[in-house]
Amino acid sequence: MEEAREVRTTCPYCGVGCGVLAGVAADRTTTVRGDPDHPANFGRLCSKGAALGETLGLDGRLLYPEVHGSQASWDEALDLVAEKFSRAIAEHGPDSVAFYVSGQLLTEDYYVANKLMKGFIGSGNIDTNSRLCMASSVAGHRRAFGEDIVPGVYADFECADLIVLTGSNTAWCHPVLYQRMLAARRERGTRIVVIDPRRTATADECDLHLALDPGTDVLLFNGLLAHLAQAGKTDAVFIHDFTSGFDAAASLAGADAPSIARVAKGCGLAVADVQAFYDLFAGIERTVTVYSQGVNQSAHGTDKVNAIINCHLATGRIGKPGMGPFSVTGQPNAMGGREVGGLANQLAAHMDFADEANIDRVSRFWKAPDIARRAGLKAVDMFQAVADGRIKSLWVMGTNPAVSMPDASRVRAALSKCDFVVVSDVTRTDTTRYADVLLPAAGWGEKDGTVTNSERRLSRQRPFLPTPGETKADWRIICEVAARMGFGDAFDYHAPAEIFREHAALSAFENDGKRLFDIGDLADLGDADYGAFMPLHWPAPEQREEQTRLFADGHFPTSDGRARFVPVRQEATAFTVDADYPLALNTGRLRDQWHTMTRTGNVPRLMANAPEPAVDIHPADAAAYHLKDGDLARLSTRFGFVRARVRLTEAQRRGQAFMPMHWSGLFAAKAAAGLLSSPVTDPHSGQPELKHVPARIVRE
Ligand code: SF4
Repeated sequence: MEEAREVRTTCPYCGVGCGVLAGVAADRTTTVRGDPDHPANFGRLCSKGAALGETLGLDGRLLYPEVHGSQASWDEALDLVAEKFSRAIAEHGPDSVAFYVSGQLLTEDYYVANKLMKGFIGSGNIDTNSRLCMASSVAGHRRAFGEDIVPGVYADFECADLIVLTGSNTAWCHPVLYQRMLAARRERGTRIVVIDPRRTATADECDLHLALDPGTDVLLFNGLLAHLAQAGKTDAVFIHDFTSGFDAAASLAGADAPSIARVAKGCGLAVADVQAFYDLFAGIERTVTVYSQGVNQSAHGTDKVNAIINCHLATGRIGKPGMGPFSVTGQPNAMGGREVGGLANQLAAHMDFADEANIDRVSRFWKAPDIARRAGLKAVDMFQAVADGRIKSLWVMGTNPAVSMPDASRVRAALSKCDFVVVSDVTRTDTTRYADVLLPAAGWGEKDGTVTNSERRLSRQRPFLPTPGETKADWRIICEVAARMGFGDAFDYHAPAEIFREHAALSAFENDGKRLFDIGDLADLGDADYGAFMPLHWPAPEQREEQTRLFADGHFPTSDGRARFVPVRQEATAFTVDADYPLALNTGRLRDQWHTMTRTGNVPRLMANAPEPAVDIHPADAAAYHLKDGDLARLSTRFGFVRARVRLTEAQRRGQAFMPMHWSGLFAAKAAAGLLSSPVTDPHSGQPELKHVPARIVRE
């Protein structure tokens, strides 16, 4: 057989952003292996990444445009999209249309979608499924640092002496990072603390597991801040020279968490365990605190993020090797989307709507006089606006909100009532059922562009397969609609490299150094250099170590250059368990599945470990509800119900349940966890509380 040609690309599954070498034989058989030269993974891949070659078949692919369920030409489909959007805008104003996009989009796709909606349609109504993933980290970063910045880099895991994993099943959700952490544990004895209500696979190898009550993270970290202050373990020089607001934050933390005993009681933990955690944190300087969806997906997620950051600021543990708060993102390009302004409350290039000068600057750069002047609707509010008829035309790109959004039955009802729904995607999903126009998008292995991973490293996704049928890249579809709406001059791109150069130029446009997101050095990248682009951190084109880790100089992108402590207080979850709904239900990922399984669900070896949806409960709870392992049960919340097998496990605490988020209509229609989840959101970030909803369970 002819030897496979290898193409250097990036895994599309999670925010670790592993480098992949994809080999394509003449018969199109694809093999993948980890790229030994990619600094995110150094050749490692997890089970999902290693199976990428098995996900590239054309079964279930959308190959041709469809209008009202019938195959159509691109011209017919795009003419109709442009006409419907233009008519809604003319009759009801720009806020009557919306885009709901995805962390699966490449940065170039995201850039043109954002430019079209905010710059030329003139509405802020573009939001992304990253809202469900890390919006609370974005808001927390902005409150503390003045800009949405992850300060550290993955290399910090290898030079930390303590890693605190909070709200993160890293072993399953960011497996290659977890392997790097375990290597540090073997080689330098790095201690690992896991803070998670469940005893997850991550907790199997740790020094201390704090199975705190759901939603009590602020209390735990407020207690830590108070303990550090009382024990004289704060860095007074750092606090004085580089921060503001310490006294207010420490005072509120002290009032909230006056003693370790009160923290332990409030969090449902043993006093000795809380004391052990505080002693480890106080005594080990090189500490990284990693947080993920368990922190973000909460009605108080932003406060949780700031409670964590407060402890790092108080100890000066930020911007230094092996130290810092570290948000790990779920999606491969959540960070790229944040960089271009893909969230409804961002404008572009880390600028927001709060400052008129930002709006004016972006308007002039885009030559877009009708630019949006205020933030748009965040995801949950956007679908509410679809439901009550304020949004007449909606374009969903590369995501499956009929399954993944909280209170999914309400989202489905909204989609079915909406005047006009466009869906562009790679495969059929639960959401494509609601599409008036269906647009076939190019998938991984066919797409060409860039992504940014959790440590701010830009990498290329490169094509190595021809686009099948009539599929097109997302950026091209968006530009063709823009041209039909009369904006052709601003969207006359011929290749993703042109879009990337414009994105890079915007980041540097009239940037006086106050905004750290500046990749202006890449604005002159030639086509060949874009093609050969090797992974690099922003904003450090020369990749010197002291540049890759941010805030090393103690300067922060706030108005006074100081990091801000944010006083936060422990608040209750949006709903609390009661006699009707006595179980605290948590949702999350499995090791071998991705999102709503539209790729991984077709790979037998990835399905082998968990072939059907299951709800995990403690054996004592099962006995109380007359359930046995393997029983089919009906799990209900105030928002809906699902059917799933019961799985008994002592990894669950009594009174709690866990259900994977992945199952959809393609695999188990009655088991979509989104049907159960609460749509209550964090007031700062708009992120819904997907990690906690009261539930009850009965045998079917
Ligand atoms: Fe892909 Fe994430 Fe696994 Fe790396 S850790 S191979 S990026 S899914």
